[in-house]
Amino acid sequence: MLDVLFPKRCALCDNVLRGDEIGLGCCKMCDERVERIRSPRCYACGAPLLSFDKELCDDCIDRPRSYESNRAVYAYGDMVKDSLMRFKYHNRREYAAFYGQVIAEELDDYIKSSGVQALVPIPVHKNRRKKRGYNQAELLANEISRYCGVKVLNKYLIRSQETTAQKGLSNLERLKNLENTFNVTQDMIQLDKVMLVDDIFTTGSTIEACTRVLLRAGVSKVYALTVAVGQGY
Ligand SMILES: [Zn+2]
Ligand SMILES: [Zn+2]
Repeated sequence: MLDVLFPKRCALCDNVLRGDEIGLGCCKMCDERVERIRSPRCYACGAPLLSFDKELCDDCIDRPRSYESNRAVYAYGDMVKDSLMRFKYHNRREYAAFYGQVIAEELDDYIKSSGVQALVPIPVHKNRRKKRGYNQAELLANEISRYCGVKVLNKYLIRSQETTAQKGLSNLERLKNLENTFNVTQDMIQLDKVMLVDDIFTTGSTIEACTRVLLRAGVSKVYALTVAVGQGY
């Protein structure tokens, strides 16, 4: 009955799925069309590169980076962009299961070889979480954890300020400002390596800011993974 009223839809294009596609979570056509990132990729942000001659994309060459690396499954094309908007702002929390499965397929080796002890979702401020009802990064981390067995710490890192006034600031000042909005709350927990989890890596400033806060709290290495990453050629 529920399936008739609310048929399962493709996480990528939002069309109703055929019976044989339900397990996949997206249409077969979307699965073939969407670009999964393969080598060569930027060593830092994980964006696809055009040739093996480079290790870093143009953006990462002068981007401050305290995290070890980020890996993403998809390049940030229109289809993925629209899907992540629905996931984040339009209550399509069921996408977490789809993306969690895709991440587990693609990034299992990355997670295992990093040796991280915990997955840490990028936090949203509690007011925003209340309004939206969920934090998409947390849902995603929970799903990934089911596959890789690494625990999720979702109260370890919090966002203590809702907004950051960024107008008229230099990039470095913006980063510093952003850094001040995050806090580690459970500093009795000693962690060596952790994996930040988010839906999208664009400028990398959120992941960089969170990394700095974690390193200050005594974590030795911070890795990151996201569903998508912007083009950084
Ligand atoms: Zn589709
Ligand atoms: Zn890069």
